[in-house]
Amino acid sequence: MQHEDYMRRALELAQRGMGFTSPNPMVGAVIVRDGKIIGEGWHKKYGELHAERTAFAYCDENGIDCTGADMYVTLEPCCHHGKQPPCTDAVIEHGIKRVFIGSADPSVRLTRIPWYQARE
Ligand SMILES: [Zn+2]
Repeated sequence: MQHEDYMRRALELAQRGMGFTSPNPMVGAVIVRDGKIIGEGWHKKYGELHAERTAFAYCDENGIDCTGADMYVTLEPCCHHGKQPPCTDAVIEHGIKRVFIGSADPSVRLTRIPWYQARE
């Protein structure tokens, strides 16, 4: 699988939230290590966990260690306190090594966003 495949999967997951997330966007997230998807999540409903945290919850519940894994998320993880604490905190706490962010299409770029670089 390639970057685009993981991001396509994240987009598929995001679409499961269709109709429930407004005014939030639909978001999907996939956690990958050694070429395998080890966790998945999506934003299911407005006011509930964001996609990133849904994916981490899945890993936590199943005893999956995310340390050193990559995360593919269809939108940049939020770094502000809204209805949920910032997803960037969860990304850092779980030891994610790299974050890839998509957009409306499955093209992928590696994040170069300040909150993430700051910890490297
Ligand atoms: Zn978030």
